[in-house]
Amino acid sequence: MKVVILSDVHANLPALEAVLEDVARTAPGAPIWHCGDVVGYGASPNEVVAELQRVGATGVMGNHDLAALGDNVIETFNEGAHAAALWTREVLTAESRSWLRALPKVLEMGSATIVHASLRDPIMEYVVQQEIAEENLRALATPLLFHGHTHIPALWSLQDGVAHATHIGTEAISLRTGSLVNAGSVGQPRDRDPRAAWLLWERDELGAGLGTATWRRVEYNIPAAQEAIDAAGLPDFLASRLDVGR
Ligand code: ZN
Repeated sequence: MKVVILSDVHANLPALEAVLEDVARTAPGAPIWHCGDVVGYGASPNEVVAELQRVGATGVMGNHDLAALGDNVIETFNEGAHAAALWTREVLTAESRSWLRALPKVLEMGSATIVHASLRDPIMEYVVQQEIAEENLRALATPLLFHGHTHIPALWSLQDGVAHATHIGTEAISLRTGSLVNAGSVGQPRDRDPRAAWLLWERDELGAGLGTATWRRVEYNIPAAQEAIDAAGLPDFLASRLDVGR
């Protein structure tokens, strides 16, 4: 059974559309889970919410979603993120707002837990260091955790009590019990690869193992996303960074 995991779409409609086309080719009909930050930075928050609703995506709240709903987490944002969050607050429809507000911070889906940032701090903690990965892995009650927030694909797993990071390539990687699986970002990748990222989880039909994870990268119409950001009057930096993926 295939499961599609998307994270950090960030109101980038061209990126989401390209990803959903790739999903339709590689995992038609598979359930879609998302790890939050649906909005913020990009110029199409309502369209992205509508698209995720259309495909029946199930997921969690991110720090940018919270900020767009009026939360004071916005005080932790840099200038560009802050400006985008204020803009998003203005343009969100009542329908988008109520869909976002209903997102939980933690979601358990069988053998996997879904959060935006980390298990012990679902909204803000960046899992970028071995120590942080280890503490989260020790607290993990399900075999897997799917998350995002860093905008960088990553896989941490406990081996003999120590957190190891596995190199992410294009091939499928077997998942072991006790893993933090970061889906990367659909709408604003930061690993110097500007293509949209999404994660395909192919579960083991026999139930003996956890199956494999494959990180997919998809080219999309970056100029269209940039033009929408410019037209919305959002900071130039939010458009230009999409070219370089950082
Ligand atoms: Zn994000």
